[in-house]
Amino acid sequence: MSTTVRNLLEKGFKSLSKTERKSPRLESELIVMHLLDVDKAYLYTHPNRIVNKEIIDKFEELVEKRKQGYPIQYILKNQEFMGLDFHVTEGVLVPRPDTEILIEYIIKFARKNDKEKLKILDIGTGSGAISLSLAYYIENSYIYSVDISEKAIKIARKNKKKMNLEDRVQLITKDILEGFPEIDEKMDIVVSNPPYIPSRDIDSLQIEVSKYEPRLALDGGDDGLVFYRYITEKAKEKLIYNGLLCYEIGYDQGESVKNIMKDNGYKDILILKDLQGRDRAVIGRMG
Ligand code: GLN
Repeated sequence: MSTTVRNLLEKGFKSLSKTERKSPRLESELIVMHLLDVDKAYLYTHPNRIVNKEIIDKFEELVEKRKQGYPIQYILKNQEFMGLDFHVTEGVLVPRPDTEILIEYIIKFARKNDKEKLKILDIGTGSGAISLSLAYYIENSYIYSVDISEKAIKIARKNKKKMNLEDRVQLITKDILEGFPEIDEKMDIVVSNPPYIPSRDIDSLQIEVSKYEPRLALDGGDDGLVFYRYITEKAKEKLIYNGLLCYEIGYDQGESVKNIMKDNGYKDILILKDLQGRDRAVIGRMG
């Protein structure tokens, strides 16, 4: 039993259209591209290429998984972030485009600052999206990246190697709520996209997130603010004078996080908006 590229694409499209998946044609294309290791142009210039049974079976298996809500990025094992390709699998949060505003802010800040070495601590590294894109775009940076999950650290290590950033990013497995890592130097920047969803809200997120993304990366405790309270206080001892504390936040957490920072003596606090005009990041300076 064999078929053609055209038929396979059509089959995937029809099958994915029966579910709530938003882009059935695109997702069918992406899965075929992934399995054949070809680009999109190839699909439409080789519609009659014969596809063997092994590929058809694999395709059906992946389409079925996707129909159950399994994230397309875990199927493709890849997500682009800040123009870089991140390997992602179950066990790490899929990097989100909204996080890029935080990175862009830090890159701009770094370029205005002519220090020889810019030391950054990233808390909750996951796949390495924040740490590695900062290291990639800020040439004088040195990044300490902490994550509680050994699995996440392994994935970040793989991405670090792939991006050739071995010398400038140090990965540390540690539960941050047990204390900051013991690093003698003070930091110029502490950055974090911590878990910030209130525990009881996780089950009502879209299925891709609630069922398949790691709870460890999402669960911010009863009110979603546990990590902000802890990190904001601890970072006071870790940051240099005027050092930056930078957070990604949930759309309705801007004022709460700003107040946590204010209560801890931070100054020049500002809230950045995301692509949809919602609060998405809070930045402050150590006073
Ligand atoms: N942005 C993620 C979501 O809402 C949450 C990430 C986090 O808790 N840090 O899907």
